[in-house]
Amino acid sequence: MKILYLSLLLTLLCSFTTPDELATLRQWTPAAIVSDQAVHAYSLDSCFQILPISDAIFSRMQGKSYKQNCTVPRTTLRYLRVLHRNIDGKTQLGEIVCNQTIASDLLDIFRQLYQANYKVERITLIDNYDADDERSMTANNTSSFNFRVVSGTTKLSKHAQGLAIDINPLYNPYVHLNNGKVEPANGKPYANNRTANRQIPVPFINTSDLCYRLFIQHGFRWGGAWRTVKDYQHFEK
Ligand SMILES: [Zn+2]
Repeated sequence: MKILYLSLLLTLLCSFTTPDELATLRQWTPAAIVSDQAVHAYSLDSCFQILPISDAIFSRMQGKSYKQNCTVPRTTLRYLRVLHRNIDGKTQLGEIVCNQTIASDLLDIFRQLYQANYKVERITLIDNYDADDERSMTANNTSSFNFRVVSGTTKLSKHAQGLAIDINPLYNPYVHLNNGKVEPANGKPYANNRTANRQIPVPFINTSDLCYRLFIQHGFRWGGAWRTVKDYQHFEK
């Protein structure tokens, strides 16, 4: 009898899932919004995967995040499929390119953030913004791999190896304490007043935040703890 109820329930759930949504999930269309029923029908495990860099993904990266002088072998990078709750609380498809050594950490962290309904506005490859960090941050896009130097220096960033990730960068900007410069420029309203009793209801990363706790548990360092700059969006290994 129990099995009968269960199969009836499953049939009911699947009846709310359109074939279009399942196709979106199979093709993994970044930033597409899907229903929870579709996720259930497709399976949560299929929505959190670590894959090699396919030819299609590699060609998206060429000359953008994967620049001509890139010294990081393609084989050390991974493509992640993750789900996230967007700012409206809807389920959205995300994609991340990162180093293989942090791939399972990120998969676990993003799965826990999703299950806790933690809001992340957008997770797409920085190549959608021609690997221009300011443009990606302005759009509040969460991203990891980008073969680039640290802002304002000639030193290679941890992002160059895919060993760092920036989360909700608009709400968690990069603040230069010496000159007050804020990156992205539209992140200025979020540069200060980053306590729990805030007026602006957005997911701020601070030491009591779930995102912070998960990254620290997984052995990452947080840019918000640095002294000369505050890189609130940044976690690295
Ligand atoms: Zn960063």
